[in-house]
Amino acid sequence: MKDHERNLVKALVATMRAEARAARDAELAESEVRPLALSEVKRRQKRASLVVLPVLALWIASWFGVIALVRPSERSGWYMVLIFGYFIVSMAVFLAIKMFIYDRFGVRCPYCGATIDYVELTGKYKPDPEDQRRCATCNAVMIDLAS
Ligand SMILES: [Zn+2]
Repeated sequence: MKDHERNLVKALVATMRAEARAARDAELAESEVRPLALSEVKRRQKRASLVVLPVLALWIASWFGVIALVRPSERSGWYMVLIFGYFIVSMAVFLAIKMFIYDRFGVRCPYCGATIDYVELTGKYKPDPEDQRRCATCNAVMIDLAS
């Protein structure tokens, strides 16, 4: 794809996203539900982390368990496949458990109930605030970043 075509597609996608967001804002204009304050999101995540951190510790400990249990053998090339396979599958399980815990602690979109994983990044990796305050599932402004 040529440069000007790529820019055209980018501009088109940006316009469509802006339209979708404006439509969602109009839809929720009459809503009684208010976005969560950022401080509240952080407080709930901090509370949830009391449960998430022990699970994280267990997950990490389980790597060593698997490494200790699965012995490499000269006749089989499956050793690394097993270790990496375990890592990938257990990571998916850990993330699912983490999101379940977040959901239990109320870290979810007040409009559609999708679980929020708010990550604060700065500098070069700082995301667009518009992306951060909106729900990825329903497009509503779910976090009031100013409070
Ligand atoms: Zn939502």
